[in-house]
Amino acid sequence: MKRAFVLLVVLLASASIAHAAPRDWIAYKQPVIAFTHATIVDGTGAVPKHDQTLVIDKGRVAELGPAGSTRVPAGATVIDARGKTLLPGFVMMHEHLFYTTRLRPYYITAMPYSFPLLYLAGGETMIRTTGSVAPYVDINVRDDINAGKRIGPDIDVTGPYLNGPGGFTEDLARLTDPADASRTVNYWAEQGVTSFKAYQQITRAELKAAIDAAHAHHDKVTGHLCSVTFREAADLGIDNLEHGFFVATDFVKDKKSDQCPRGGEKSIAALDLDSPPVQSLIKLLVARHVALTSTLGVFETFVPGRPETLQAALDLLNPALRDLYESTWKKTQAMPAARAKIVKEEFAKATALEKRFVEAGGLLMAGSDPTGYGGVIPGFSSKREIELLVQADGFTFPQAVKIMSLNAAKFESREKDIGSLSVGKRADIVVIDGNPMKDVTAVEHMPLVFKDGVGYDTAAIFRSMRAAIGMN
Ligand SMILES: [Zn+2]
Repeated sequence: MKRAFVLLVVLLASASIAHAAPRDWIAYKQPVIAFTHATIVDGTGAVPKHDQTLVIDKGRVAELGPAGSTRVPAGATVIDARGKTLLPGFVMMHEHLFYTTRLRPYYITAMPYSFPLLYLAGGETMIRTTGSVAPYVDINVRDDINAGKRIGPDIDVTGPYLNGPGGFTEDLARLTDPADASRTVNYWAEQGVTSFKAYQQITRAELKAAIDAAHAHHDKVTGHLCSVTFREAADLGIDNLEHGFFVATDFVKDKKSDQCPRGGEKSIAALDLDSPPVQSLIKLLVARHVALTSTLGVFETFVPGRPETLQAALDLLNPALRDLYESTWKKTQAMPAARAKIVKEEFAKATALEKRFVEAGGLLMAGSDPTGYGGVIPGFSSKREIELLVQADGFTFPQAVKIMSLNAAKFESREKDIGSLSVGKRADIVVIDGNPMKDVTAVEHMPLVFKDGVGYDTAAIFRSMRAAIGMN
């Protein structure tokens, strides 16, 4: 009898963990909070500052300066940040609210519940959804977060993928002509989406119509392109291109206009980075102010010999999806040697190009892109992206943080409010245990994320999201 009662109590307790109320995820909600003796990487690319005091007052950064000369207000809740590094909240530019895996041939499902929370637990305080398969999900989640009904990042909602016929899934628009492109953009802009994304099978004329319509609504357009080259898109006035240079078809020989060619990967793998065509494309993108979004985490999953997704991340997947991921990852490791050589070479060239683009004055941003065969997991993908910006692209840690924050805040025209740690800006703060300048994998230790001055317990969020991905 007594044992049965204990068991019932345990069951009730575990049920309450599975449906933890938001207050269980909140670690700090006091109006005035002071971090003392912190190392600050402020998001501007500046060298880190040590032994700093940062004061939050009603959701804003009120003070930031050397511990010796910065006053901690009386009554402040003090967090001793010795050994911790504070970064600005990440502004991530390719963060779908859906999960995909390979199944007949693709399985795509909206994740309105788990993904916003997981992005936040990974340090992301603002996201762009960069292609929606269920735009009303993205719009409603954004509005509920803004209304304080739900916890999650600010969201720049991107409309449905603007594509022509022939896409890899039935979730994409099948535009018939330029008029259809303008109509679609106008409709979704009026429904409240705030950005657009063109996709692989769009034509130049449709892309032009979409860009003009979006710009008339003061919305920006990005693209994961294939039928249209980067050069053509830049000339048409596109604002942003996804996936760095991985998907550029500018260097495919005999590419036909408005058609997605074969051999894109091979053409990047074979590039001479110092050659005039490469130099001239970089120059054009910089001159036209076309930003690039780096999404190294998802491309890494297609390259053999790279690490498997962390177990803690895989624990968030529904078990059936975890099995699918595992089997696809194993197949990827065993791909034919000739193909392995191409994807490895493509990864090396495309990462080097991202660095050169920045050195030439280009605006590089970053995103998770939780797609492919399902190994890119929100909450962990931001950490992996920053590691790869350092380890694969060769950026310093402060440069990588800037790519993950201030660069994107500028693109979003929100740099006065978010994107760096500075007095007056919103208190969106990522807390790292350790020194990521010494070892970038320290970013994997991220116990707290603050948004609007409220501190979230990331471990509590992850605990309550076990096996949630794939369900809701
Ligand atoms: Zn995407």
